[in-house]
Amino acid sequence: MKYVIGVDFGGTNIKLGLVNPKGKIIRRARIDTRSYFSSKAKLINSLAQKIREVMIAQELCATNISGIGIGLPGLIDPRKGIVRFLPNVPGWRNVPLVKILERSLNIATFIDNDVNLAALGEWQYGAGKGADSLICVTLGTGVGGGIILDGKLYRGEGYVAGEIGHIPINEKGPACNCGGSGCLERYVGNQSLLKKARRCLQNKDITLEEVYALANQSNSKALALWEETAVHIGNALVGVVNVLNPRLIIIGGGVAKAYKHLKKPLIQTIKNRSMQVQSRMVAVRRARLGDDAGILGAQILMKDLTTGAHTKHV
Ligand SMILES: [Zn+2]
Repeated sequence: MKYVIGVDFGGTNIKLGLVNPKGKIIRRARIDTRSYFSSKAKLINSLAQKIREVMIAQELCATNISGIGIGLPGLIDPRKGIVRFLPNVPGWRNVPLVKILERSLNIATFIDNDVNLAALGEWQYGAGKGADSLICVTLGTGVGGGIILDGKLYRGEGYVAGEIGHIPINEKGPACNCGGSGCLERYVGNQSLLKKARRCLQNKDITLEEVYALANQSNSKALALWEETAVHIGNALVGVVNVLNPRLIIIGGGVAKAYKHLKKPLIQTIKNRSMQVQSRMVAVRRARLGDDAGILGAQILMKDLTTGAHTKHV
């Protein structure tokens, strides 16, 4: 196994890491995504340039790198190497990212959904070590999910499995961007949480950071908000636990900062409401790798692609 370049492509920042064969990130770089909102081509150029810089700094050439793995927040076609749509990066529709980067860098490149890569990273190097089946949930602006089943990343027929944020938790709930209604994300996505927090704490400028801080000071309204959030997430996960019978649920993403307030009601909801066998087997843990999960996940993806293990379809 050679070195791998892992890229976590976010709507705010793009984070790069050079991963050594032992799974250690030995060099990092970062790009401010928003300063390239006006030009897709400039953003891709800048990404290629940063990758070159990281390799030069470590005195590596293309033959030392087994591949570049990129996780992106949106609809991805990993088989064709096309970014179908990124909801939070303007202009990104049907971009043949793999072809463009391979031409520019002459290194094999693979793309996938960012939560899939985070799930792979947490599974092999983080909170999911040793589990054969797990669900990785990321709580942020969107609510995403990555599924490892029987020791493989499960992508689904159209590569879009794992959309936990779009499990309906209310038959008559509000309309969602996905075209559905009453989706979990409409209740626990950052925007909905902020709206609720501003209303119940009667402060129209409050940030989620301040809501974490208030809960830490035992503010009853802030604590109630996190409890209600945990119960919503738990209810959606009861369905997942009953259907998939996973060993582990890993909670990550920005909102997981409130994990100590979410933990008890979340576990209680899952344990009390899911079926007996599933309930007994499942454990809930906080993600351990933070932002590094996606970068390390890229290394696992590359390992799987070169050995033919774990991944399906690609
Ligand atoms: Zn939805």
